[in-house]
Amino acid sequence: MKPTQELRPVIYVLVALGLLIIGLIAFLRRRSQNRNRSKSAPRSRDKHGTQSVETILPPSSSEGFPVEPCLTPILELAAVPPRRIRSSLPGVFHEVNLASVTCSCETFRNECSTHPKDSPARLCRHLSREILRSPQSAQWDELLKAVISENSRKEQYVIVRLTRGGVVAVGWSRGQPWADVFARKRRPGEREGRFTGKSECFGFSTKESRWSYKDGPPGAYEIREVLTRILR
Ligand SMILES: [Zn+2]
Repeated sequence: MKPTQELRPVIYVLVALGLLIIGLIAFLRRRSQNRNRSKSAPRSRDKHGTQSVETILPPSSSEGFPVEPCLTPILELAAVPPRRIRSSLPGVFHEVNLASVTCSCETFRNECSTHPKDSPARLCRHLSREILRSPQSAQWDELLKAVISENSRKEQYVIVRLTRGGVVAVGWSRGQPWADVFARKRRPGEREGRFTGKSECFGFSTKESRWSYKDGPPGAYEIREVLTRILR
């Protein structure tokens, strides 16, 4: 028997072992890639394809911008008696109760009633109107009054304090392409910081990270930076 013939079985075993090791490495690599993918993707999307609550909740102030919930001080109006108000439809009336923050209208029943009492999302237009005609609300912050009067019923509302003293309110809902940004307009002579003009609602595209109109509110650049962090 020649020496090469004697070695042949050994060579076969070595080749088989080598192929097995290569196959094992490829399998392990594919498994670890799949695991990483499943760690990042499904957490950000639920079964309906919308963003999960974890990704939409506002960040803590460690991001550099203090963020706090934007709530209505509705308890201040608990003593206001219920009122029956005329609807825009002829012969229809609604019972509006600021103590329980309820209204008998269909919008309230279908879209608002499940939200907490101090959430702007709980307000139908009748509740908003009654709140803003109360003498107590005259003392409230202009931005908050803008949120109440816009009546946009987003899932979340927060107040963001910007670095130069500016304050904006932001409202958004999971999976919706537009967020509402409430900011005050610039009065003549105001350059930067806290503007004191009329409060207005500006649309912000959460998908494209841009304003619905060309410029956005005063201080738009910084506000946009903050929004991309909050809404990502
Ligand atoms: Zn109503």
